[in-house]
This record gives sequence, C-alpha cells and structure tokens, in this order.
Amino acid sequence: MKLLLPNQVYNRVTDIDLDHLSSLGISGLLLDLDNTLVKFDSDQLDNEFKAWIEQVKAKGFKVCLVSNGKPKRVIRFAKQMDMPAVIRAFKPKRSPFLRALELIGKKASEAAMIGDQLFTDVLGANRLGIHSILITPLGKKELSTTRMVRKLERRMLNRFVKKRMLTAEAVKQRHGGKQ
Ligand SMILES: [Mg+2]
Repeated sequence: MKLLLPNQVYNRVTDIDLDHLSSLGISGLLLDLDNTLVKFDSDQLDNEFKAWIEQVKAKGFKVCLVSNGKPKRVIRFAKQMDMPAVIRAFKPKRSPFLRALELIGKKASEAAMIGDQLFTDVLGANRLGIHSILITPLGKKELSTTRMVRKLERRMLNRFVKKRMLTAEAVKQRHGGKQ
C-alpha cells in the first residue's frame, strides 16, 4: 500500500513548489503527458503549461516525458517542448523510468515523477525511490481502462486520508471538491 502513496499531491503542475523540490536535492523531472500536461483528447499545449515548462528549465531542472500514450503524439509534444521522451513506456514497469533517468543523467534520488495516475506514475516512481507527485487529471476523458482504475484510485486515496497519510485537503480537488 505504501508503494501507492504519493510523496506530494497537487492540483496542477503549475502549483508544484519547484524551489522546495530543489531543496530536497531534486534536479530532474520525469513528466507524464496525458491529463498531466495536456488533456487526453487535446492536441494543444496550453500557454500556461508552455510557460511552466520554460520556468522549470530556467530553474535548471532536466526534464523528460515518460508516456504510455500514442508514440506519434508523445514525440510531437516532446519536440514542441524540446525535451527527450520515453515512448511506449508501459508504466509502472521499471525500465521506462530507468531509461528516462539515463536520458537526463540523474539518479533516482535526484528525480521526481509528476503524473495523474496512482497505479502507473506514482507506483512506478515509488518502486524505484523516485519522488512521486500526484496531480489532478486535467480532463475527464481517458481510456476506458483508466476510467475503471480511477474508482480503485479514489478508494485508495480515501484510505490514505483515513489513515492520515494524506490530508483531506490534498485530495479534495481531485474528487471534485468533495472528500
Ligand atoms: Mg496521465
């Protein structure tokens, strides 16, 4: 169960305290794409997120996309954001995370994974000792398999709140303002 507990929970990537991450010795960010940086059904990176990526780079973080999404789509966004990408990642498998760390030249202890899913992004990162940050999915649209997993995810997060491993406030946004 601990392997599913995110180190931090935020609503959006833009809410993440980058200076705090730096103070933890984190200098590499592994980024999920779908519903983390762009809506699952969108072909456009919002200006808000474009600006965030620029800010992240300006602060000296090395970045890499790690996505289970359609390879063509992932490669296009990676080019647009000027960063490497691990495609066909099959998170939570270990290999895509290790490959991403290799691409940015960081150790697991120097990296954070940012994503919207507990069973892929957070679990994969935690297994390797990568700092895990769970954010609220940008949109409701996603694969039907993901939708099924969301119920389980929600149950898990509620359990973390009950056990005081996460604050109710942290997961509230994700549950549409309800606990
Ligand atoms: Mg995602």
